[in-house]
Amino acid sequence: MNDQRGVSFLESVNLMFDRAASLVPMPPGLDEYIKRCNAVYQIRFPVKFRDGIKVFRGWRAVHSGHRLPTKGGIRYAPIVHQDEVEALAALMTYKCALVNVPFGGSKGGLRFNPRAHDSEDLERITRRFARELIARGFISPSRNVPAPDMGTGAREMAWIADTYVDQHPDDINAIGCVTGKPTTQGGISGRTEATGRGVQYALREFFRHPEAVKEAHLAGNLEGKRVVVQGLGNVGYHAAKFLSEEDGALIIGIIEHDGAIVSDEGLPVEEVAQHLRQTRGVKGFPGARYVAEGLSVLESECDILIPAAMEGQITGENAPRIKAPLIAEAANGPVTFRADEILRAAGKVMIPDVFLNAGGVVVSYFEWIKNITHMRFGRMERRFDEAKSALAVDVLEEMIGKPIPEDHRGRMLHGANELDLVRSGLDDTMRLAYQEMDEAMRAHNEIPDLRTAAFFVAIEKIATAYQEVGV
Ligand code: NAD
Repeated sequence: MNDQRGVSFLESVNLMFDRAASLVPMPPGLDEYIKRCNAVYQIRFPVKFRDGIKVFRGWRAVHSGHRLPTKGGIRYAPIVHQDEVEALAALMTYKCALVNVPFGGSKGGLRFNPRAHDSEDLERITRRFARELIARGFISPSRNVPAPDMGTGAREMAWIADTYVDQHPDDINAIGCVTGKPTTQGGISGRTEATGRGVQYALREFFRHPEAVKEAHLAGNLEGKRVVVQGLGNVGYHAAKFLSEEDGALIIGIIEHDGAIVSDEGLPVEEVAQHLRQTRGVKGFPGARYVAEGLSVLESECDILIPAAMEGQITGENAPRIKAPLIAEAANGPVTFRADEILRAAGKVMIPDVFLNAGGVVVSYFEWIKNITHMRFGRMERRFDEAKSALAVDVLEEMIGKPIPEDHRGRMLHGANELDLVRSGLDDTMRLAYQEMDEAMRAHNEIPDLRTAAFFVAIEKIATAYQEVGV
């Protein structure tokens, strides 16, 4: 989507890159090399259906291979194009570097409307696309590992993994060729919810930094904060659910493709999601006001605006009317470069996409490690830890001469299972990444905001990696 001044998504990402790269000391020319995609593969392939043959067009972009494998989702959408895939691949590189996931950036897209096909068709399309990408090294556990994005999920990842395993039966790590698989097919607990969970952990960390909260003209924590979410898909649904059910935030607006619903009392996220699944829209959800012009709800009075649908939603055109003091970018590229300038000038605080939605790739990294180690997390130590805790509880009870209350006892005796460890690792990663951005801002007066800080930290690491091994 182009901004008011004709700036594309890719140009927008590159302008954000330039702003931060100019602050990173590196040899002349290295910034240009880091910025551009290393390779883009464009493909056209036919699929035979009952009513004839249809030709599909897709892309897989590899932005940076300074770390391998490269990593990035596959998107199914009617309007996906090369520029978009390149922009998303670049964001993946910066994201992985920022959150210390040792992958390069990649992204794929297939241009069609998945809603217009049944599961049988989708399987045929996905397997054919996968075969083409595998044949050219754009899917492989050691070189390029896709994951879900808009329009794809665990089901598509299982089909891709199975296609790869079929073609590479001798590769012992074959199942690690893709992440976001069902847990029964080599996936990891907590991957589906990971991006939304990461949004929650990132926002919690933001609210642990009183100066940042003050800059956003807010106070306290997430409790009672009025939130508007755009897009109740994988990312938006999980973020809205966790923030409302676990942190006491109030979801006062949900914007979907068919309009928006609003309620000052807060919307029940689970029920809205059910309505959306059943009716394919939010229109008609009982007990809420329906707004046909959904985009206008981005401009509502609220504390936190979470665009979680797609890129280019807040542009030079609507940015001056955005009232939320804090914009949490759960989608990739929802705020254009021009909008970013306008919002910053208006004193708004943006938590950038490269940080905020990194939860998905962080847990994908855990899944990939699980696949190449061939063992679930916690398998070796869980019962050992429980036995040690039981001993400690017994000794403690003996010393204090009374039993520890049952609920405390249960929590103390619980050994970490895979989901506990995934959540712990994700929480730790999001906290540390925020702290790295915060430290960069403190150390460099020229870094004015979190987005520049995120790019700065990422570019510094990538530039160091290239300089250490040579370009
Ligand atoms: P999804 O397909 O599950 O959900 C997208 C939702 O947005 C759908 O409910 C769709 O109906 C809605 N939507 C589409 N166009 C809209 C519009 N114009 N206005 C309002 N709603 C609209 O996709 P997702 O996986 O949740 O991804 C959403 C965003 O998050 C994308 O930008 C994606 O790149 C990014 N992201 C996803 C992941 C992940 O793990 N899935 C990770 C990082 C970033």
